[in-house]
Parts: sequence; structure tokens; C-alpha cells
Amino acid sequence: MNKLLSVSNLTKSFDDHGPVVDEISFEVYEDEIFALLGPSGCGKTTSLRLISGFERADHGKVEVEGEVLETPGEHVAPQDRGIGFVFQDYALFPHLSVLENVAFGLNHIPEHKRHVYAEEVLCRTGMGDYKDRNPSELSGGQQQRVALARAIAPKPKLVLLDEPFSNLDAMLRDTMRKEVRDILKKAGMSALLVTHDQEEALSFADRIAVMNDGKIEQIGTPEEVYYKPKTKFVANFLGRTNLFYTDANGSQEVSTNLGPVNLNNEDATGRVLCSIRPEHLTLEEVENEDLQKVGTVVEREFKGHDITYHVQLHGQKYLVHTDNRIIFEPNDAVVIKPLEPAVVLES
Ligand code: ATP
Repeated sequence: MNKLLSVSNLTKSFDDHGPVVDEISFEVYEDEIFALLGPSGCGKTTSLRLISGFERADHGKVEVEGEVLETPGEHVAPQDRGIGFVFQDYALFPHLSVLENVAFGLNHIPEHKRHVYAEEVLCRTGMGDYKDRNPSELSGGQQQRVALARAIAPKPKLVLLDEPFSNLDAMLRDTMRKEVRDILKKAGMSALLVTHDQEEALSFADRIAVMNDGKIEQIGTPEEVYYKPKTKFVANFLGRTNLFYTDANGSQEVSTNLGPVNLNNEDATGRVLCSIRPEHLTLEEVENEDLQKVGTVVEREFKGHDITYHVQLHGQKYLVHTDNRIIFEPNDAVVIKPLEPAVVLES
């Protein structure tokens, strides 16, 4: 795969409170959808603004296809970067029709052809029938499709999406994520999405960079960051997890409160922090187990297709997510069984 966007050691401070974007580095490949995921205030939008050229970098570099767009000494203007942008509030021109909004950035096409091509792109995003309306006459989801059509119409190499689904209701958000992903993939475009919603990043992106406090903590596929988190922050931010300490001794199996547990890292030694997802644990009825291994159900969350149990064991609460047909009640004595190895965290 060819590298499209390359961000190296990008850093930005606004005042003397320290950098809000702190030495971030990552690459986005051709045809790839990449997400910057992190909590509010961690520096995601500032990173996008540095990449798009709306903000100047203190140091570091932004390159697209090997062309330097941003360093402290160089700055290519946003409109000359060949990058499309979908803002959180869509930022459509209110006084222009839907068609004119999409045709607006098509300066490279002869004027008489602009509307024909804009209509073609609108049809691709399912908005062809709305071309003569004004943005104020559209729903949130429809405005979002027009914003996307406007961003992709000039055929940019890369589209930046800043929390584009956050104004939509839950049902529409799901549908739009799938549709937008489809449109981008069909158009063969790369995209960089910014979001604080882990479910969105996991379902929308091919790879994810998890950001915390201006820094990238981990980059990986959705499966990697979810099932093999490297840090406590990543483990916690990507959904519920169980954290526990154990003494690793360089062998695969260690003894824990849960009984013997395999670790994903056989080389770990000393006191290590581990993470195991609730769906990688299951509950069994007590048979002849050692009392040391018997826990108590303290809470049950029924979710329809599955159940999350909160189980107290040796002063620690574990979450166990199971579709097991045996239903346990609060106060039941249970044994927690790991189904997968626990992940050893690096920090
Ligand atoms: P959210 O998800 O809430 O949009 P974010 O991760 O996108 O958050 P940023 O908008 O990049 O975070 O902001 C990171 C930090 O930088 C915040 O503390 C913010 O207050 C600060 N910041 C952003 N822009 C400016 C600015 N122009 N001047 C001063 N501080 C700023």
C-alpha cells in the first residue's frame, strides 16, 4: 500500500500550558480510513486543523504523497492542499442551494459542466432529488450527505471528517456511518476521522490512533486496539475491561485471583498490570472448587441478547459479559473462568 499522508512529530501549543498536540506521528495509506480517537480536549481537532492548514505547527511535518505541506518554515494554504473537509456542523453555505454548495469548489471544471458533475456526486450520496433546496430545508442526515458530497466532489486525495456524525440521532448515525464508509471506499478515497466515540472508530475505521492528552498511545486495527491494548488508558477508553495485577514469571500461565490465567506475553516478568475484556470471561456454577475461587454475583445487567454480571471476588469487582443460558441471580456463588489470555499492559 502506498503512503498518502505522513504526519511526523507534529506539535502545537497555544500558550504556556504545554502542547495540546505533542509529537504525534502516524501515516494514512491510499484507500484507508483512519481515525483519531480520544476524549474531549485531547487535541484531535487541533491535529486536523494542523493537517488541513487552518493552524500553524510549532514543529513537526505534514506531507501528502511526499509533498511537504506544513513545517515551521513552510505552509501550504488550506485550499491548495488537495484535502476535503467535513466539519462537525457541516458548514454549508446557507444562501446557496444544495447543488450550488456542491458546485462551489469545482473551479477546475469548466463552468457549464460544474452543475452536471455536482448533480452526479449528489446522486452518489443519495441527495440528487434535493438539489434545489436550501440547506435550512434539510434534516441533519441530509445536510451531512450534502457536506460529504461537497467534500468529495473536487476528488481530493484525502477527506478529513471532524465528528461528522455527532449531530445525528443514534439510528441515523449507524446508517450514515455505513453509507459514508461505502461512499468513500467506492470513490477510492482516504479519510481521516476525528471522534471521541469508540464504537464509531471501531466500526468506521480501518486503523485507529488512540490519543490521550496530546499524545498517541497506540495505533492499530480496531481488533488490535480493542483486544490488545498496550496501555491502561487504551484498555479503559475502548470499552469496559477488567484490570488486575499479577506476578509474571516468564511462563505463559500465571496464578491470579481468577485461578490460572494465560498471558498474551510469555516474556513478561515481575509485577504486571493485565487487562481482560468482560466477554473473555464466563461464569460457571460452583462444583468442587476451592473456596478461594468462589465469587459472588452482586449485580446483573440484562441487555436482551446477553448479560453483564458484576462479580465480587477477593475484594475486586469483575465484569463478566456472557450469553450463557444459565442465568445467575445476585448473591449466587459463581466461578469466573477465563476464555482467552489476559493482555499484559506496558503502562
Ligand atoms: P473535542 O472532542 O471536545 O472537540 P478535541 O480532542 O478535538 O476535543 P481540541 O479542540 O484539539 O480537542 O483542543 C485541545 C486543547 O487545546 C483544549 O484544551 C482546548 O481548549 C485547547 N485549544 C484548542 N484551540 C485553541 C485555541 N485556538 N486557543 C487556545 N487553546 C485552544
